[in-house]
This record gives sequence, structure tokens and C-alpha cells, in this order.
Amino acid sequence: KLQLEGLNKSFDGQQVLTDITLELPEKQTTVIVGPSGSGKSTLLRSLNLLERPESGHYHLSNLAIDFSHDISTKQVLNVRKKTGMVFQDYNLFPHKTVIQNIIEGPIQVLKKDRKEALQEGQNLLDKVGLKSKADAYPEQLSGGQAQRVAIARSLAMHPEYILLDEPTSALDPELEAEVLQVLDELAQEKQSLVIVTHNLFFARQIADKIVFVENGQIIFDGSPQEFFNENQENTRINRFISAMT
Ligand code: ATP
Ligand code: MG
Repeated sequence: KLQLEGLNKSFDGQQVLTDITLELPEKQTTVIVGPSGSGKSTLLRSLNLLERPESGHYHLSNLAIDFSHDISTKQVLNVRKKTGMVFQDYNLFPHKTVIQNIIEGPIQVLKKDRKEALQEGQNLLDKVGLKSKADAYPEQLSGGQAQRVAIARSLAMHPEYILLDEPTSALDPELEAEVLQVLDELAQEKQSLVIVTHNLFFARQIADKIVFVENGQIIFDGSPQEFFNENQENTRINRFISAMT
């Protein structure tokens, strides 16, 4: 499992995450929600070391990092191997085809042979419903298709955790549904997922665990049943849910 303990992060002297202690269970889907600017992306990016907290501890299987010490390149590579990030705007290589986007990492980083990488890439494209798009370029894809390619590309690296930052917020509802379905399938296959989303309907449907962040702090950490409980006593959560649904 992935664990954070006492994480603190500030930008230009402004504290953005305060004393974050959090467990992200393996083979489960953790959904992070909260108001805009509350620190969700910073928290998610910290899981992949795209952000460096000033203090706190990070554990992922046999990997342990103390943020108050220097982090070695090797530690960063190890974390990146175990965690794959999927961005809101897909981040596909524009000058590479869909299949080239997917096999790049497996060949360059995992040192897979090309044939094997291609075979697996095709299977992954099939899995996300895009078998016919292998030779298309990213600009020829809809947003929903591009995001599914980004997910397939992430899966090709076999990370322990896939981290997704608002994977559908750039999409129209029909396109969003295609992406949510792929994520739903991954969750059912027990792929460990951490998803930041504003879509509370989806959060409720997919989450094993909900984390509510406000003002850089964790206000709630528990099951979707507890979070969406009609008798939710936390007025901040109540207000957030009514505003978002
Ligand atoms: P949203 O829902 O709008 O995506 P968020 O919860 O993801 O918001 P973050 O992006 O984590 O919020 O930002 C948390 C706070 O940190 C905000 O006040 C933001 O302005 C600040 N912040 C984030 N990244 C940087 C940066 N690179 N430099 C300076 N401040 C930053
Ligand atoms: Mg964000």
C-alpha cells in the first residue's frame, strides 16, 4: 500500500498541504474530492514526486522516502515506476501515433522488445475500446479517445498505482461516460487507482474510499457510504455535496 505521514508542502511560503497523513489501499479506488484550490492536485502530484513536500514520509511497498532529506534520482525513478500519472489534458506525444505513444515507455524504460510491446499495446487498445485507432495521431482523436489512450499508455508501464487528476473534466458528458466506464472496469479488476474528480456521482459509484480535502487538510477519510450519508453531520461536507450535485 501507499502511505503518507505528516506531509507538508508550501509554495512561496504559503502552506498548501498541512500534516497530511493518508493511506491509499492497494487494489482499491481512492477518490479525492474538495473545493477548487484546496490542494488535491498538489497531493496527487506528491504521490508521483512531481511535487516535493518539505517534510513528511512516503511509503510504497519497500520504498521509503523522508521528504526532509534529499531524494535521489534512483528513488524518483522507483516511485515513477510504481505510480503512473494520467493528466486532465492527456499529455500524449502529438507527433507519435497512438500505438507509438503506448509502446514508447515499455521499450525505452522497461526495455521490452518491440514485438512484445506492440502485442501488449494492441491488447490494451482493445481493452479501452480503441483497437482501430492504433495508427491515428492524437489530433485525430476525440477528447474521450485521447484520454483512453493516455490510460492505456499508463497501463502499459504496469505501475502499482494509477493516479488520475480530473481525467474527465475537459470532456462533454458522452465522452466522459466512455472514460468512466474504462475506469470502472479497471477498478473491478482491482487495479489500484487514485482519482481526483469533481464528479460526485462517479465518486460515489467507483470509490472504495473517499478523501475530502479542504484548505490543504484532510477533513474526511472514509467510505462513500459515510461520506454521502444523508445524516452527514459535517456541515462543510454537506454544503460541498449540495453545491456539487
Ligand atoms: P482545482 O480543483 O482547481 O484543480 P486543487 O485542489 O487541485 O484545485 P491545487 O492545484 O493543488 O488545488 O492548488 C492548491 C494551492 O496551491 C492553490 O492555492 C494554488 O494556487 C497553489 N499552487 C499550486 N501549484 C502551485 C505552483 N506551482 N506554484 C505556486 N502555487 C501553486
Ligand atoms: Mg487540481
